[in-house]
Amino acid sequence: AAPLMQGKRGLIMGLANDKSIAWGISQALAAHGAELAFTFQGEALEKRVRPLAAQLGATEILPCDVSDLSSVDAVFAHLEKVWGKLDFVVHAIGFSNKEELKGKYVDTSLDNFLLTMNISVYSFTAVAQRAAKLMTDGGSMLTLTYYGAERVMPHYNVMGVAKAALEASVRYLAVDLGGQNIRVNAMSAGPMKTLAASGIGDFRYILKWNQYNSPLKRNTTLEDVGGSALYLLSDLSSGVTGETHHVDSGYHVVGMKAVDAPDI
Ligand code: NAD
Repeated sequence: AAPLMQGKRGLIMGLANDKSIAWGISQALAAHGAELAFTFQGEALEKRVRPLAAQLGATEILPCDVSDLSSVDAVFAHLEKVWGKLDFVVHAIGFSNKEELKGKYVDTSLDNFLLTMNISVYSFTAVAQRAAKLMTDGGSMLTLTYYGAERVMPHYNVMGVAKAALEASVRYLAVDLGGQNIRVNAMSAGPMKTLAASGIGDFRYILKWNQYNSPLKRNTTLEDVGGSALYLLSDLSSGVTGETHHVDSGYHVVGMKAVDAPDI
């Protein structure tokens, strides 16, 4: 059989380094024959992203800060020129001021609320608007979310509120774009030690808690997110849209601390 992603071209947004969720996803897609383009946010990350992208044979590596919509426009204008059409897009972008990823949600400032919603929620809608125009043979869009959208997690605060809005926007986009055979899904990943996660207070404790209390008794890996993204971005999931798919060692089904969980 032909490789699953053979002939498919997609854009990966949110690669920062080799710990990024976007890296686990990119490796799985490339291993199954996809052709990838990447965006990077700013010069500091460009140095890390270029060699990683090159490892996977990518040639289109473009700057994009989603808080500047003209840079988002430029990415899609470029892809239209070099590729003509697009089959999938991965949005693995989120941001909130570190000062508000500790303490209480009740103390959230308006400035950081708007910033968090813009970068972590609106950017996916902005990307979907532009990507859909290039998905002339249908397509698949994927964003990354977290269980803190559904239940209150320590320190996640405004990011949890943003992820809830992101998950709702996935459902609205799925309806708006379904008629064009474009599917829109979210992957709710368990806690993983990435650059973004290092901004969250007590993150080591959160990792341990998930390891001890999830059904699989382990944390989520880059291979886990890669495999599930491959399913969601390929034709294997042709009947799936508007979904929030948990890739979290099953943590979201658990109702209380495991009786045999060690102290942390
Ligand atoms: P990461 O730090 O590797 O990736 C975050 C990316 O967001 C970076 O590449 C960064 O450049 C990008 N970004 C931030 N602001 C941006 C902007 N203005 N313009 C363009 N890009 C911007 O961390 P990650 O954990 O791989 O995060 C990827 C996604 O996964 C995020 O949406 C995050 O909330 C989500 N997620 C992470 C975890 C976890 O525990 N790590 C769990 C569930 C969901």
